[in-house]
Amino acid sequence: MTIFPLVLPPLLITLSAKLGDKVSNTGATTLRRTCGSCSLCCKLIGFPELKKPPRQWCFHCAKGGGCLIYASRPQGCRQFNCGWLTTPQFGDDWHPLRLKAVIENRSFGDSNILCFHVDNGSPLIKRLEPYYGQLKQMALNGLPYNSWINLFIDNKLIVVLPDREIDCGTLGENDVFSYRRRKNGLSWEVEILKNGQRVF
Ligand code: SF4
Ligand code: SF4
Repeated sequence: MTIFPLVLPPLLITLSAKLGDKVSNTGATTLRRTCGSCSLCCKLIGFPELKKPPRQWCFHCAKGGGCLIYASRPQGCRQFNCGWLTTPQFGDDWHPLRLKAVIENRSFGDSNILCFHVDNGSPLIKRLEPYYGQLKQMALNGLPYNSWINLFIDNKLIVVLPDREIDCGTLGENDVFSYRRRKNGLSWEVEILKNGQRVF
């Protein structure tokens, strides 16, 4: 079973600095991708150190991009690398400015949540291909590994399963979700609970 709180500990929810050409370093592999002119995580990701809620531009973000407090930006900003930056399997279509969404990888014990923080006007809201078909495929591939796909749209959580999407409704600050999966023959049975109540 996967249990995760809506409000994440500071070490798990971090935000990126946007100045300069950050080169993501994933340990063994140094990727050649950089933030460039993108600063979308300064808007879409909530950041407790700054008391910045998700989906609102950071007060310190300059018009046109760039961080006004770059030298003293919080640790979380320094550490954050979005999924596009660190995961070569996400091609150019998944660039944050094209996707209008920021991909964030969250780990909880043996489980993994691939979060898509979706901006207004993103093709992910309208379910345009190629994205939606690939999200379904990721959901299917992830189930055996306790890996889940979450879309955060406005203030709602949508869990993408291989054959459907589950609208978990509006998120409250203290909401806690848990996911369960059980193999049934060749397929998986899934349960989603919100604050202990089954929503699917
Ligand atoms: S402090 Fe700077 S790097 Fe951090 S969110 Fe704000 S603008 Fe972005
Ligand atoms: S969303 Fe990704 S590419 Fe864009 S600024 Fe943040 S870390 Fe860099």
